[in-house]
Amino acid sequence: MTVVKHSDPNCIFCKIAAGQIPAQKVYEDADILAFHDIQPWAPVHFLLIPKMHIPSMAQLGPEHQEVLGRMMVLAPRLALEQGCQPYPEGGYRILCNTGVHGGQEVHHLHIHLIGGPRPWRKG
Ligand code: AMP
Ligand code: ZN
Repeated sequence: MTVVKHSDPNCIFCKIAAGQIPAQKVYEDADILAFHDIQPWAPVHFLLIPKMHIPSMAQLGPEHQEVLGRMMVLAPRLALEQGCQPYPEGGYRILCNTGVHGGQEVHHLHIHLIGGPRPWRKG
C-alpha cells in the first residue's frame, strides 16, 4: 500500500500551513494558502501553496488537478488585490522552481507571484 504523506514535520511550508510558523497571509481556504515571500524580489511577491505536502511539480498526479487549477485561477485575482497593475501594461511573473537545477530551495510545491513596477531586486 502506498502511504500518501499529507504533511511533512520537517517542512517549513507545512509548518506555515499548520500555523506553527507565522506568515503574512494573503489568502487562505481549506486547501490553499498564499503568503508574502520573506525576501521579496519586487514590490509584490507572494507564494501560493497547496496545504497538502507535495514536494514539487515533479510529484503531481491526476489527483492534484483540481487544487493546482484552483491555484492558477486564484493567482491573477490575488495579484490585482495585492497591487499589481492590470494586464497588459502591468502584469506579473508566475514562477514555479522545480528541483535543484530549477533553483528550488523549499521542497513544498509553491508558485511565486512577482509583480509591481520595475526595477525589481531580482528577475
Ligand atoms: P524557491 O527557490 O522557489 O524554493 O523559493 C523559496 C522561497 O521561499 C524564497 O523566495 C524564500 O524567500 C521564501 N521563504 C523561505 N522561507 C520563508 C518563510 N518562512 N516565509 C515566507 N517566505 C519564505
Ligand atoms: Zn510541506
